[in-house]
Amino acid sequence: MLCTSMFRDAIQKMTGYTPGEQPRLKKVIKLNTNENPYPPSPKVVEAIKQAAAAGLQKYPDPMAGAFRSRAAEVLQKDLPAITPDWILCGNGSDDLLTIITRAIVGEGGVVRYPSPSYILYKTLADIQGATVEVIDYQSDWTLAEDFTRPLEGLRLAFLANPNSPSGTTLSPAEVARLAAALPCPIVVDEAYVDFAETNCLALVADNPRVIVTRTLSKSYGLAGLRFGYCVAQPQVIQQLAKVKDSYNCDALSIAAATAAIDDQAWLADNLAKVLATRERLAAGMRSKGFQVTESEANFVWCTDPSRDLRSLYETLKESGVLVRYMPYPGWPEGIRVSVGTDDQVEALLAML
Ligand SMILES: *Cc1c(COP(=O)(O)O)cnc(C)c1O
Repeated sequence: MLCTSMFRDAIQKMTGYTPGEQPRLKKVIKLNTNENPYPPSPKVVEAIKQAAAAGLQKYPDPMAGAFRSRAAEVLQKDLPAITPDWILCGNGSDDLLTIITRAIVGEGGVVRYPSPSYILYKTLADIQGATVEVIDYQSDWTLAEDFTRPLEGLRLAFLANPNSPSGTTLSPAEVARLAAALPCPIVVDEAYVDFAETNCLALVADNPRVIVTRTLSKSYGLAGLRFGYCVAQPQVIQQLAKVKDSYNCDALSIAAATAAIDDQAWLADNLAKVLATRERLAAGMRSKGFQVTESEANFVWCTDPSRDLRSLYETLKESGVLVRYMPYPGWPEGIRVSVGTDDQVEALLAML
């Protein structure tokens, strides 16, 4: 029998994070975890083959220098001051969120984040033995002053921007204001930012307590690769780097991610397709009677008080279409639908 007392109290008490379902059946129309419906740039696959052929017997570059150099060039348009030492890479952006939390939040600290939002923030706080302070969004998905108020023990704030499940975005000016008013560092989780009109990268230059995280999982079609990065001032990156695994990104993923961020033409082409389909999906869901929040991400948040959305989710699942049913306590339940291909969206709408 398992001896539970071998674990820290904080671990025994917490419930682990449950990711969205990942069915292995090919036939399922998968619109539940915001993956890109299109395969990544062919240059990514080529780069993986080349890196594999070059031999895997050596450890990879611990800081993923090739990616950092290319990323710094690409990101210069939004953050002119950026150089490679403003960037830290990770095994998906979840790895960066973990590194940041471990580096900043200790036992008994407080982590603040809005709700409804990404629930991994709670898991990360739980692992540290920290407590969480959940600030409800207002009904228009903005944040009231309570998000920035001083609080004893407050160590870190998270803000997904664009937010999930709403797909809504706070403006860079608003996020700058929140960051300046907060008595602690803020992580601006930009997992979906490539689908949005604006981003908060420039804020990093003015405020050392702003850390922006990004991922290649969504907009670059590389959820299976596991690669993300964060951007912060160099002295912040240096501290975070102490906490990461020595080789947190493998040689194949570094090569692939470098090729991916290098292919901005692929990204532009992909975004054009996804954004066009997002508008079709939103319009289609509205025509079926749902309230659909205006989205700046690759999914739409749909509510309808007159429907039983849990049973709708179940029925769709039985018919081979997976969406994400999300009941947040105190909020109208909703379904979050990822932007698939046009054919997938048509299939969903036909079923509805
Ligand atoms: C998908 C997602 C991430 C994590 O992405 P990785 O696959 O770990 O890079 C982080 N934050 C939010 C809000 C997400 O939706």
